Amino acid sequence: MADETFDLVVIGSGPGGYVAAIRAAQLGLRTACVEKERALGGTCLNVGCIPSKALLDSSELFAQAQHGLAVHGVKVGPVALDLPAMMARKDKVVKTLTTGINGLFRKNKVERLQGTGRIVDAATVEVEGGDGTRRVSTKRILIASGSAPVALPELPFDGRHIVSSTEALSLPAVPQRLLVVGGGAIGLELGSVWHRLGAEVVVAEFMDCIVPLMDRKMGVELQKALAKQGLEFRLSTRATAARIEQEKVRVTLDTQGKQSQEVVDVVLVAVGRRPYDDGLGAREAGVAYDERGRIKVDEKFATNVAGIFAIGDVIAGPMLAHKAEEEGIAAVELMAGVGGHVNYDAIPSVVYTWPELASVGLSEEAAAERGLNVNIGSFPFLANGRARAMNETEGSVKILADATSDRIVGVHILGPRASDLIAEAAVAIEFGGSAEDIARSVHAHPTLPEAIKEAALAVDKRAIHI
Ligand code: FAD
Ligand code: NAD
Repeated sequence: MADETFDLVVIGSGPGGYVAAIRAAQLGLRTACVEKERALGGTCLNVGCIPSKALLDSSELFAQAQHGLAVHGVKVGPVALDLPAMMARKDKVVKTLTTGINGLFRKNKVERLQGTGRIVDAATVEVEGGDGTRRVSTKRILIASGSAPVALPELPFDGRHIVSSTEALSLPAVPQRLLVVGGGAIGLELGSVWHRLGAEVVVAEFMDCIVPLMDRKMGVELQKALAKQGLEFRLSTRATAARIEQEKVRVTLDTQGKQSQEVVDVVLVAVGRRPYDDGLGAREAGVAYDERGRIKVDEKFATNVAGIFAIGDVIAGPMLAHKAEEEGIAAVELMAGVGGHVNYDAIPSVVYTWPELASVGLSEEAAAERGLNVNIGSFPFLANGRARAMNETEGSVKILADATSDRIVGVHILGPRASDLIAEAAVAIEFGGSAEDIARSVHAHPTLPEAIKEAALAVDKRAIHI
């Protein structure tokens, strides 16, 4: 017999789960959230978005202090790194935010259940924690169990020499040479962090370009920018073997049949993440999965088992915190009879290197695949007054608009603060805006967003440029 009854039990407290739990409680559902880790917040807050951005911001300041100030006429003495202090700041940022969720749970009357949640059936969850095992009954279950790093059998994680992003966020010292396997978001962001802090960084990418899912030309530009900073790239390359030799790792790389060796201090394997369902009991409860191990859901985030729902990294779609959040909110709003929705055409995605690469909607390649005829407008930051003032002139804005309707279908920005700039583009796509809508909207001068307006003007070749 279960000793408690809820309207909703959420399994997992990442950005999908905790946001869903709070919204459900606000909508009047008696809600509990089960989390197996001591800290709430999931991958994103503990070992993902937040600590990586804290280190990216700190390491960028270090790089600026070393190389970026003289041009502004600011002279500094020798710049030194205090890695323990940088790590302590990162940990403090994480702690403040994860502790904040406890407060939000209390304020919104979400019950926190600490332990591993196992689905017994659609109406019962067993929670196994430090204090023993308890069962709770519930009208609905929302699975938000997230994802875990993919391991390569040839390069098994040992937590010291061959590591995942989790350990790469807390290395005890700057490696002299770091091999990053995988030229995606994690590889480029953490590769940038350690390169800025002094490591030689080599990125081995399986495909013939980095960030293969993003707009190809923008990805090529990002690679050029990072190569100029000193990161080395080996494209069309796989790591096929690794051997630990006296605190170093000897890695064999295969570039289209040609073998080479890299001897490095640390290997970061960042080749993607897999949906996480260890110990969850969803399969045993009859929940259906797709061929890539993701839980299958319908447009209301319902699985094939009545009463069991799923959102976030454990289902299909981009593995992004804001995607998980939006799905969590939509799922519980639909449960409560309020009309939630997620527009999958308007989910921005950002690689937080410097310059940053941000994108929303279709790439040029995806538009071509869909047989969509598009007009393209672009504008370089080199010609933007504010970018000049900041001495941050790398990159450009590229806008794709439907050739018939002028409706914006994709925006790609490589440049300073692209992560902030992309919000305007996401809103424009969400509102069904046209390139002309942006071109005719007044943008403050001198600002970086003027580059977006100029790119929109460039979509219409008849437009007058000043
Ligand atoms: P998660 O955040 O993975 O949370 C799942 C939670 O469920 C975990 O806390 C886990 O302990 C818990 N759990 C699992 N099973 C059980 C169980 N049976 N019982 C109890 N608890 C359970 N995304 C961005 O949008 N922007 C970024 O800048 C960004 N940076 C990233 C950097 C790194 C290094 C990494 C690794 C990821 C990054 N991501 C980023 C991706 C982002 O972290 C994920 O997309 C997001 O966390 C997914 O949210 P989620 O709620 O689905 O799952
Ligand atoms: P990813 O899918 O973004 O990139 C993995 C890269 O590794 C791809 O380019 C892929 O072609 C390459 N690859 C795959 N197998 C390989 C192999 N054997 N050898 C060499 N290269 C190989 O995955 P990730 O960077 O590990 O990130 C995981 C998830 O976390 C992603 O879905 C990402 O969206 C999310 N994330 C997002 C952010 C962000 O939003 N800024 C940051 C970090 C992580």
